[in-house]
Order: sequence, then C-alpha cells, then structure tokens
Amino acid sequence: MKQIPLLINGEFVASQSSQLIDVTNPANNSVIAQVPCATEQEVQQAIASAKEAFTTWRNVAVPERARLMMRYQALLKQHHDEIAEILSQETGKTFDDAKGDVWRGIEVVEQAMNIPALLMGETVENVARGIDTYSYIQPLGVCAGITPFNFPAMIPLWMFPLAIAAGNTFVLKPSEQDPMTPTRLAELFIEAGAPKGLLNIVHGGAREVDQLLTHPDIKAVSFVGSVPVGQHIYKTATDHMKRAQCFAGAKNHSVIMPDANKAQVLNNLVGASVGAAGQRCMAISVAVFVGKAKEWIPELAEMIGKVKPGLWNDKEAGYGPLISPRAKQRVLSLIEQGKAEGATCLVDGSDFSLAGHEEGNWVGPTVFTNVTEEMTIYKEEIFGPVLCCMEADELEDAIALVNRNPFGNGTSIFTASGAAARKYQHEIEVGQVGINVPIPVPLPFFSFTGWKNSFYGDLHAYGKQAVRFYTETKTVTSRWFEDDIPHGPNMTISLR
Ligand code: NAD
Repeated sequence: MKQIPLLINGEFVASQSSQLIDVTNPANNSVIAQVPCATEQEVQQAIASAKEAFTTWRNVAVPERARLMMRYQALLKQHHDEIAEILSQETGKTFDDAKGDVWRGIEVVEQAMNIPALLMGETVENVARGIDTYSYIQPLGVCAGITPFNFPAMIPLWMFPLAIAAGNTFVLKPSEQDPMTPTRLAELFIEAGAPKGLLNIVHGGAREVDQLLTHPDIKAVSFVGSVPVGQHIYKTATDHMKRAQCFAGAKNHSVIMPDANKAQVLNNLVGASVGAAGQRCMAISVAVFVGKAKEWIPELAEMIGKVKPGLWNDKEAGYGPLISPRAKQRVLSLIEQGKAEGATCLVDGSDFSLAGHEEGNWVGPTVFTNVTEEMTIYKEEIFGPVLCCMEADELEDAIALVNRNPFGNGTSIFTASGAAARKYQHEIEVGQVGINVPIPVPLPFFSFTGWKNSFYGDLHAYGKQAVRFYTETKTVTSRWFEDDIPHGPNMTISLR
C-alpha cells in the first residue's frame, strides 16, 4: 500500500509512525493510500528544519523569492490537469471542478510572484527637521498551516506561497482525508528550486496539530476547517502568543428579489447549491425568496432534482460523492431531522446510489421548502447537496434574517434594482457579497473576507491582508548629523 511521505528538510521521507490513516476513493471507499500520523520527533524535525532555513531565506533578495514563485507557477500550470486528476481521485470531485480547485490556487501563486510590490513600506521625509521615518515589512519566521479536505489544492496554496514569498518558512499539516494533492504541490515546489526547509509537511490529526500550536518556534498559524476545530485552534494558538487566522464554517444565503431575471437565478442557484456535493464553504445552502419570487421554488426544485451525481471522469456528472461514509451519514441524518421537524422535502436525495458504485458516499440533490430558523437544517452547516428554501415578505425581512444568522462567510442577492442591491451590500453583515453573482469568492488581489463565526482573527487570507498577516512592520526613524549644525543633548521625547 502506498504510504504518503512527510517532507522534512527538502526530503520526502517515510514516517517511522505505526499509526496510519486510510486515504480512500470516495466513489467506492477502496483504500488508495495510507497517511501516517507523524511522530513527535518528526514534527520537531520539521519545525527545526524550517527554523534553520529561515536564517538564510529571510536574507534572499525579494526579486529572487518572486522568481521562485514564477517558476512554481509555470510548473503548476504545466501539471495542472495531472494535479486535478489526483485531486479528483481522492476527493471524488468532477474533473472540471477539480481543475477549478487547482486554478484558484495558481492565482494565489501569481499574487506571490508580485511580492516586491506587496512588501513596499512607507516613508515620510522630514518628520522633524532633518529626520526621516520609513517602514520595512519583515517576515515573522516559521509559520504553520492546517488545511481542510474540501479544497486540497487551493487552500494550501492560499497559505505557503505568500508566506514564503514574504520571507518566512512553513510547516503544512494537510487534511488527512486527501493528502496526495498537497504532496504533489510540494514536489513541484521542490522542482521549482525551493531551498530545503522552506516548506515542510507533516501529516496527522489533532495531536500533531496541537504540537504545532504549542511549539515556541511557530510564529503564526493559518487554519481552514470546521467551527469547533477553528475555535480550538484560535484559542490554543493565541494562548501560546501566536498570531492566528482561522477560517471556519458557513451558512450562505442567497436572496432572490421578484424583479430578478428568473432564468439567471435558477441556473445560478443549481450549481451554487449542490455543485461539489455542497462541500464548499461558499456554497449557497439557503435561498430566501422575497414576495412573489417564491413562485419559482417548484421550478428550481425540479431543476436541482435533475442534477446527476457521478464519477469524476463522467462528463455528465453534476457532482461527485461526499468525502467519507461519516460525512454521508451526517448529511442523511440532517435530512431526516429536516423532515421530522416539519420542513417540506421537495426533492429527496437520501436514497440515491450510483449503479455499480453502491459502496460510495453518494447523496442525491435535496431541496427543502417551508424551512424555519428554529430547524436543525437551518442552524447547522450541512455540507452536503441540500438547499433550504425560505420566504420573506420584503427585502428588509430578508436582510434581518441573514443578519440574525451567526455565520457570515458569503451571501448574494439577485435583483434588477440597483437600489435594492446597494441597500443589501451596505446593510448585510456578511464579509463577501455577490450581486447577481451566486458565489462571490474574491480573486487574490483582494482578500477572502468571511465574518462572524466563519472567521476568527483579523487579517484574512491572500491579498494585502495575508501579506500583513505573515509579516511584521518595522519603522525606522533616522537622523544624520550635519557637522556644522550644533546640537546639545536632547532631554525630551520630542524629535527636534
Ligand atoms: P475539519 O475542521 O474537520 O478539519 C480541518 C483540519 O483540522 C484538518 O487538517 C484536520 O486534520 C484538522 N483537525 C481536525 N480535528 C482537529 C482537532 N481536534 N484539533 C486540531 N486539528 C484538527 O474540517 P474539514 O471537514 O476538513 O473541512 C470542512 C469544513 O471546513 C467545513 O466546515 C467548511 O465550511 C470549512 N471550510 C471553511 C472555509 C472558509 O474559508 N471559511 C474554506 C473551506 C472549508
């Protein structure tokens, strides 16, 4: 059985651990590899290697760091489809969706190529007579990243390229459910010429993560995953005096106004809700129909009901299986709860199974209507191909509903009214807003800005905020004496 290696000090090495976790093909649950839970000593070695590499990497010229990212971007593009195929096999994503996962990661590497401009500080000449102040942006040291299963290319690439381009070194702990994709990303990074120790990879679960969170040589922690784990990681990292950014769960609403273009709404909501089997943190899981727009619910349900799950290489497949039998069980039990609590199940995907692949983690597209705020299917993040439809009398009611929800990752409004769109974008307490765009994931020159329970921290992923997260600002105040200007000792704090 293939065992996933660790990456320590530039070498892919077999772990000495006897604790192995199966990596499965979600379409039939066959075991395709095993991933080790790194030993305590191996985690120590990874951190020590990153710490040693930092002593030289921080002094490498910034354009040279950018060139490493240029070579890496070229290799990622060259191997784009091959990475997507690995990704499809371990996640079950359709090939097109897997390619999107890789591509959105490459876009962040492209931002890292631009690091010289992003590291420019500020200067003011003559803050006092003959005194100048300027700032430099300097790296922190060893940073760590802990990533979820649902974007095994994009999310690791949110983290280590920018951190490293900014002059840091990195220890990545990818999801144990799909570690083959991040391993391939790391192989290409080494091939691009990354010096040893810049990127290290350790595998495992809670124990290995806790070792990173409490280690004094880790300066900053980036996490993406579920709410309980995000809260634990944020608290533990900050208790250990580390900088932390933790991206967590979501419940994303789309508000549909009666003046919206109906065909656009229906076509967009189908993919945004059940695409990727609903396993996207920006999936639309709640559609709020305002006024007469509720008349479109049966047609939407019919369209969603026609989406066929299938194998990654089936061009007709709308989406693939869920990641694990546990994830499937969780979604099925939430669907049951939705029915028991009184929601109307217009399309029920509970019994779906793909012929010839009955062992896989399949759930068919599911649509509920008459959903209320008290129901478990509304309160919980389902993370499956399930759309909850709700109704509101006016735009104000829809805004109040979305704002009462504890999550704030993404939202969208469909409308033909500029005034309604303007009101929504201004009043909504959600960090990423789409106007006639169902899944508003910003490109990497902006930042990924979830709010409320969808994010713990202050500086967000990629964009200028990530550069700020992975760096420290140093301000220098400098005076050069001119011999012919006499100065006595300065006994005050003022700069004169
Ligand atoms: P998860 O929280 O189960 O796991 C994420 C990572 O944390 C994995 O690497 C895992 O090994 C590690 N981990 C698990 N339990 C841990 C513990 N007790 N202590 C320390 N580390 C632990 O999440 P997942 O199931 O892999 O991913 C799905 C979740 O991620 C969903 O809730 C989704 O909304 C969220 N997500 C959020 C964003 C965002 O940007 N807000 C993006 C993608 C995914």
